[in-house]
Amino acid sequence: MGVDAQYGFVVTKDAKSREVAIIGAGPAGLFAAEIIARAGHRVTVYERMPSPARKFLLAGRGGLNLTHSEPLETFLSRYGDSADEIRGAVEAFPPAQLIAWADGLEAHTFVGSSGRVFPNAMKASPLLRAWLRRLDDLGVVLKTRHRWSGFVENNELSFEKPDGTIIVKPDASLFALGGASWPKLGSDGRWIEPFSSLGVASEPLAPANCGVVVPWSAIFKSRFEGCALKRVALSIGASTTRGEVIITKHGLEGGAIYALIPLLRTALATHESATLAIDLKPDMDVITLAERLSKRRPKETLTNFLRKSAHLDPAAIALLREEQTPVPENAEALAARIKAVSVNVTALSGLDRAISTAGGIAWSELDNRLMVRRCPGVFVAGEMLDWEAPTGGYLLQATIATAFKAAKGLLNWLDERQ
Ligand SMILES: Cc1cc2nc3c(=O)[nH]c(=O)nc-3n(C[C@H](O)[C@H](O)[C@H](O)COP(=O)(O)OP(=O)(O)OC[C@H]3O[C@@H](n4cnc5c(N)ncnc54)[C@H](O)[C@@H]3O)c2cc1C
Repeated sequence: MGVDAQYGFVVTKDAKSREVAIIGAGPAGLFAAEIIARAGHRVTVYERMPSPARKFLLAGRGGLNLTHSEPLETFLSRYGDSADEIRGAVEAFPPAQLIAWADGLEAHTFVGSSGRVFPNAMKASPLLRAWLRRLDDLGVVLKTRHRWSGFVENNELSFEKPDGTIIVKPDASLFALGGASWPKLGSDGRWIEPFSSLGVASEPLAPANCGVVVPWSAIFKSRFEGCALKRVALSIGASTTRGEVIITKHGLEGGAIYALIPLLRTALATHESATLAIDLKPDMDVITLAERLSKRRPKETLTNFLRKSAHLDPAAIALLREEQTPVPENAEALAARIKAVSVNVTALSGLDRAISTAGGIAWSELDNRLMVRRCPGVFVAGEMLDWEAPTGGYLLQATIATAFKAAKGLLNWLDERQ
């Protein structure tokens, strides 16, 4: 028996090693596999798709944002209502550990101007290749095209594979099946049913970090689909975010809207629509703007006037016209409209293209090792758990930190049974 020099858990000798099943080969499952294999156990990872970590690879397409460099308390506040539950995991495996782990896989990182942390290569593929090699060296077996279809009895697991069904009986199992966004990449949320049949409650899976539906006029949609509204501020109630949004056929997409999704989801649960206020000139106060708008020349078109005096682009000007009431002529009222264009959001876009998922296995179902209370030996990690966070590296950090916590919990549980 020894102690792992990096992570401090007990390493088991061959005779005592146990059979552990990890279900789901996304970042949570792969990380848990690494920890448990390092501790000396025999690990098999079961994955329904023909290859592992497809969502992780997609995440790398737009620049793999691994984590964030801001102070830990600010970082933890990003998890909103789940901050208390996520705290223990992130404190035990903080951003610095994640960066050190990536370094160990030759995925050296840099901090972007926004404080976000990326691998130098920006992509996920080199990191994943090195990671899979490491898992192979640790003896981890990866079984693809194995779809977990449910529990049998005594925590036995049933898998559908191309040539039939198999039942496996591991000493312990760790589920990392993800949420339900981008289901064509593998995570489809169908795990809810087998867990609920055992009485394990989950919060409904809902899109997070997704676009919103806005009933644009036909003319606006046809002319401005794909255009960006840059450097705007979006508000719902007292909460404001800044950034860029893209006008889509169905509504709006983009980083600035993602941060407001939890509030919009709450508002839409009880109302048919929610009002989003868009400030098209967030860096200029309303008085200065009104002053600029007070010198319109006779016969100058509104479009030319707004373009020259307020530096608004055509999409922003057209957005002013999307409100029910005509664009005001009066400078103060016009400035007020530019500072708070009302946009009627009628729904969140679906899970199909959401970056992440809210909801998941209820925290009340888990003990402080992330073991399902009513299924001893069954652990859960990653996006399957009930938390959400904005983009910025918070998703992968919590995914991997909860995998670390659940893996250590599983090791601890196995140790108690030696
Ligand atoms: C477009 C996009 C960009 C993103 N960019 C970032 C980013 O830059 N930074 C960041 O922090 N996060 C990002 N994310 C989010 C991040 O990818 C996820 O939070 C993370 O992948 C969740 O990891 P997970 O292991 O919990 O679940 P997943 O990655 O969803 O993995 C779950 C695995 O389980 C498998 N599975 C599901 N059901 C079964 C079953 N029944 N049997 C067997 N296997 C099954 C799935 O096929 C999948 O491989 C992005 C997501 C998307 C969609």
